[in-house]
Amino acid sequence: MAHRQAILAHLDALLNPQLFNDYGPNGLQVQGAEQVGLLVSGVTASRALIEAAVGHGAQAILVHHGLFWRGHDGRLTGWLAERVRLLMRHDINLFAYHLPLDAHATLGNNAQLGARLGLRGESTFADQGLACLGVNAKGDTRLSVQDLTDRIHTLLHREPTVVPGDGRPLRRIAWCTGGAQGFFEAAIQQGADAYLTGEISEPQAHLARETGVAFFACGHHATERFGAPAVADHLAQHLGLQHHAVHIDNPA
Ligand SMILES: [Zn+2]
Repeated sequence: MAHRQAILAHLDALLNPQLFNDYGPNGLQVQGAEQVGLLVSGVTASRALIEAAVGHGAQAILVHHGLFWRGHDGRLTGWLAERVRLLMRHDINLFAYHLPLDAHATLGNNAQLGARLGLRGESTFADQGLACLGVNAKGDTRLSVQDLTDRIHTLLHREPTVVPGDGRPLRRIAWCTGGAQGFFEAAIQQGADAYLTGEISEPQAHLARETGVAFFACGHHATERFGAPAVADHLAQHLGLQHHAVHIDNPA
């Protein structure tokens, strides 16, 4: 059991949301029960995740994608009303951390994805240092596009969209989880041989062909599955909570 404020203080100290210019509020987005015994983690505060939390009897949820985003006019109607109503009715706290949960050096989405793909981060770049630049952790500098594709397939159980570049060995690999295709040019400028993210837009295919730098789109949701459970595990250990990671399947 832990007090809601103790959880918030621990998360804020761990993730440093004050360091980020984000698209929505980080921290406690919906206030529920004072005492939390069971925490559920997931990628997005969707109705399915909230219903799963209700089913588990959780008092708190930790997500990467919360409910409130810049540009939203603040009305609690339709699907948003339904999600908030479910949380309020069941007295569930919603904690949401967006960019801070991407960027944490060991528990964040980037660090967790990189480690699972056998990549060792050496530096960060792009807006707010959100993207990682590193190498194959196994020290083999001959990593090929096919090798990395195989690793992605094994980890995420899906085929990435790959624009293979010029076939050079992948010595320097850059990555950023989620919808970070806009960082591809910055990755090229950093000297990356490959860039891996969640999504692809039309221009990246041309850039990959014209610069020879391979581009991997592995899924927005798929690449962001590991940060929230890692942070929730850490929280559970330090504050004596129970934690269930809930995976809601998503084709993105
Ligand atoms: Zn995202």
